[in-house]
Order: sequence, then C-alpha cells, then structure tokens
Amino acid sequence: MKEQVFKRNLLGFFVIIFFVLYSTALFGASAKNVILFIGDGMGQAQVLAARVCAYGPEGRLNMERLEHFGYVTTYSNSSFVTDSAAAATAIATGHKTRNNTVGQGEYGQEYESILELAKKMGKATGLVTTAEVTHATPAGFAAHEANRHEAKAIARDYLNGAQPDVLFGGGAGVWTSNLLEEAKKLDYSVVFTKKELDTLDPSGVKKILGLFAKSHIAFALERGNQEPSLKEMTLKALEILQRDRDGFFLMVEGGRIDHAGHSNDFSRLIPEVLDFDEAIRTVMSKLEASKDTLMIVTADHETGGLTIVGPRGHLARKGEMVEVNWATRNHTGADVPIWAQGPGAEFVRGRMDNTEVFSLIERAFGIYGKEN
Ligand SMILES: [Zn+2]
Repeated sequence: MKEQVFKRNLLGFFVIIFFVLYSTALFGASAKNVILFIGDGMGQAQVLAARVCAYGPEGRLNMERLEHFGYVTTYSNSSFVTDSAAAATAIATGHKTRNNTVGQGEYGQEYESILELAKKMGKATGLVTTAEVTHATPAGFAAHEANRHEAKAIARDYLNGAQPDVLFGGGAGVWTSNLLEEAKKLDYSVVFTKKELDTLDPSGVKKILGLFAKSHIAFALERGNQEPSLKEMTLKALEILQRDRDGFFLMVEGGRIDHAGHSNDFSRLIPEVLDFDEAIRTVMSKLEASKDTLMIVTADHETGGLTIVGPRGHLARKGEMVEVNWATRNHTGADVPIWAQGPGAEFVRGRMDNTEVFSLIERAFGIYGKEN
C-alpha cells in the first residue's frame, strides 16, 4: 500500500517535471522585467544614416549590438500606411485597429495592453517619451480612445485606468489644474523641470508624473539645460521601477524622430536617433549583469521615405553627413527593424508583424495565450 502511494507520488513528480521542462522549451525562460524602446518613425534608413554619420560605414549603433534581429510589418486595419496610434495599439495589445485609434477596436471594444497585464501581475509600469506624454505611442499602452487627439481624455484614461507608476515626457499644456489635482489624489508626485528630476529621490516616490515641456520636449539638436534628455528620463524611471520586487514593464519612446521626418529635416533627425540610441546604451550598460530583463528596440513605422544616395566615389567618413532624398512628408508602409536581448529574445527572428511584439512580451512574462 505504502509502496503504491510512493509510486503514485513519484509519477506525479515526474509529470510536473515534464510539464515544467515542456513549457520552458515551448515558451523560453521568463523575464521579470521588460523594457521596450520605440523609435517613432525610425525605419532602417534612419538607423543606417545615424550609424554612418556617427560611427562611419563600419560602425554600429548601440541598438545594433543587441543579439537578436528581425523586421516588422506595420500596416493597420484601415491603411497600408499606419499612424502611430494604430501601430502603438498593435504593439501594446496584439490587435490591429484603424488609424487614429488607441487601445481599442473599430467598434469601441477595449483591448487590454501589455502594460495593463503587467500591472495585474503586480509589476511596476512606466511610460517615457520625448513627445507629449499623452501622445499616440504612450497612449496605446494605457488609454482607450477612438481619437488619438483627445489628449485630456487620454490623460483621464491614464488616471482612471492603468495609473502607470512613471509618466515622463512633455505635454504640460494638456494637464489642467483639475487633472493635476486628480493625479495628486492618486499619489502622483508632479515635477516640471530637469532640476526637479535630477534631484528626485526615488525612495520618496510612490507614483510620478513628469511634464518637462508645454508641448513636446525640444529636439536634441537644440535642447538646452532646461529639459532632460531621453537618457536622463529613462535612468530615473529605471531607478524608480526597479524597486518593485515583482519586476516592471517600461516603454521608452524616441518620439521626435518622427517629427524630424515629417519636416524632412535631416540635421534634426540624426541627433534625435542618437539621443534615442544613447538611452539604449545606458540601459544596456546598467543591465549588463542582469539576466532577468528582456530588452526590445523597434519602431512603429517609417517617416519620410528616407533614402541614402551618397556620398558616391568615396567612403563616408565618421562624422560626415550622408546625402539623402526624402520621398514624402508623411509616413510610409516600410517594414521597420527590431532587436532584442534577454529572456524571450530568441523569438525575434526574420519577418514579424507588429502584433507579434505584444506576443513576444506576453510570452516572456509567462502569460502567453491568455485572452486579452
Ligand atoms: Zn508621424
């Protein structure tokens, strides 16, 4: 009798071991933390141009040092050429939607985002951008609106919904005194200057809303001492989020690469991509020893139809501006690059769709396949 019980227990033990091994093989090791970098409007040509200008043709951007690489299709439900709202929704929720729409479908059905799922798992969450903090890309992760331009409604969604622990960006003009009061009632500390950010002690912060410009934060090319760089905001966000023992989800957007693209402004574009890359470098060096963080770098779409046409007849030298053509002042349907490193990064390979970025993170967090 005793022997039978022992055998049954032994069988149960092996069944459990089998399923653990099987699911590990199927879904990969799990990540405690995920940091997702999105270069708004950053196609392959923007990456190439910044690489050549900063490091020469043989150099590498920091994002290009991540181990796994693929490319991402970007079309939305309403257009082959997506906007940031539909693209952010696809990346954040795994569902394609119409252009102009954030965090929901075309009939108003709300889609749960990876940030909201992370919060349900007890993780800390954050959104950092050089654009307005209520702009389409961050909005895709924590708001549900038919119109991306309803900035106040998006701010209200942040506060009534996911309440990300860290919200850093521009857009102070959107936040009326009512909205700021509401935020403070929900334990948000509110800061407006780079100095306040620099001197902020993470241990004294529950949640934080940082609004460092009236609208978007200035382009890297002309940013003075008044506004923080993407790197500075990202580092402070990390310090705050890393205190959560359950881990965190952080989205960091290089929001103004797109704006330089819309105005076909190459001299602003390059510093903007390098500012984004510098934030990535800092996080990479901070996390070097950490084995439990999945880091992903991608874009929502390409802007401007950028093509590199020169120099011809000699190799571009480090520091030399390449010669470019722009095809449009709008977005294009071009595929965008994706890089990743850390647990779950092995699923980044070859051709992917933007909705699969969501599945990638879901899988890394160990919640793959659950309805959202
Ligand atoms: Zn755009």
